[in-house]
Amino acid sequence: MRVNTAVVQPWLPDGFRETVNYSMLEMHVFNTLEELLDADVAFELILFHSQNENIALEDIKRIRASKHYLARIELFESDDGKLQKTVNEIGLIQQRKQKSSHFMAQSQAERLWHFLYIWDVELTVTKSPLASRYYFYPLLQAFSLERDYEQLIREWCKEKKIEPTGFVASYFACKSCLASQLCFTDHCPECHSQNLTSSDFLHCFSCGNIAPEDHFMQSDQLICKQCKAKLRHIGIDYDRALENEICNDCGAVFQQSHLSAECMHCETIQETDELVKCSVYQYRLTKEAGMQLSEFSKYDAMFHKTDHYIKPIFYCRFLEWGLDMKDIHPAYEYALLSVRLTQAASLFEKSELNRLVKMLVSNLRKTDMFTYIEPDMIWILLPNTQADDAFIVQNRIDDILNRERLTSHVKELRTFNSSFIKTWVQDGEVILDKLQNTH
Ligand SMILES: [Zn+2]
Ligand SMILES: [Zn+2]
Ligand SMILES: [Zn+2]
Repeated sequence: MRVNTAVVQPWLPDGFRETVNYSMLEMHVFNTLEELLDADVAFELILFHSQNENIALEDIKRIRASKHYLARIELFESDDGKLQKTVNEIGLIQQRKQKSSHFMAQSQAERLWHFLYIWDVELTVTKSPLASRYYFYPLLQAFSLERDYEQLIREWCKEKKIEPTGFVASYFACKSCLASQLCFTDHCPECHSQNLTSSDFLHCFSCGNIAPEDHFMQSDQLICKQCKAKLRHIGIDYDRALENEICNDCGAVFQQSHLSAECMHCETIQETDELVKCSVYQYRLTKEAGMQLSEFSKYDAMFHKTDHYIKPIFYCRFLEWGLDMKDIHPAYEYALLSVRLTQAASLFEKSELNRLVKMLVSNLRKTDMFTYIEPDMIWILLPNTQADDAFIVQNRIDDILNRERLTSHVKELRTFNSSFIKTWVQDGEVILDKLQNTH
């Protein structure tokens, strides 16, 4: 195995060739990250020189949003043996990679799930005083999913994509933006001023005056300013008051000031009992989600038996090619037929899925092409086909589904023709993504 490696910096440090089993690396050297991102190869290892100090977060985000999203990103030193270890680890994940090789991520979320699957890692939590919640998930950040991540995590748990593996911490957060960076202050219950002084208070029994102790002090004696009584014996003339704070603005004395919290992010001021208690957990990809990623290959094997299957990445290029063709010969048309299954293909009985695929294939011409990207969606490309003819194919398939009692497996059949597609999109991946969501 040779590891496809990109080095962002034109030179290799001294000793690099001696310490690393160089023959294991298929080296590509780039001067800038832009050049690397444009490269045709999907890299497994991306090395930045350690003198780069910190790889900027923005650079990592760009890599994680590109076709290199599964790559290990490392800083390399000349002789620490770390690189050899990384290369070995990359070797260990090859099987998983193979298993999900036909999975084509459509969104950052899918890229992240794929990453978790391939590297068999959890969504771990880190603390940072710079993070608004204090706790944050570095991988969510790297995949640019850090905004509203609580909601994302809730959705993913609901969809059974991820599951918690352990409790990390809990904290109180702002009721409006969930930031944990709060400034606590106490206020006068009468006028809300923060200008308060704490002190020991005395209570004069003869007139009921309550005031800080130093208000009673007169030449080493305690004398009530209000009734002029001398306070000699505690318990007889006076006692200590429960009140212990005085407002320097309105003069109110009180036992308990009001505690409130101001959010340092959105400036919302709230009572402490309004704060939201948040719990932080660590998560992992569920077995089901991992299966879905790898089951693609099983599903795939079914299609591989036919000559009509094409990998999504090439399929998308065909769609674009068709649109280019249309630019040159406006009369050229192709059609796309989408078959939405009632559930992920991997969940069907093998024999049923086989029957379904066989039926679809038997109705195709030699030049028609299949692919699937979502586990419940099959795309059939009908080259050189007018909209009316595509509709005939759709009806024929519909009839056969009925006849073969396969209708319960298919939720929806639709056709799209290239003139329609051309009016709003040019990019193959975008085409399929958009069409799936048009109603
Ligand atoms: Zn806030
Ligand atoms: Zn006050
Ligand atoms: Zn008094």
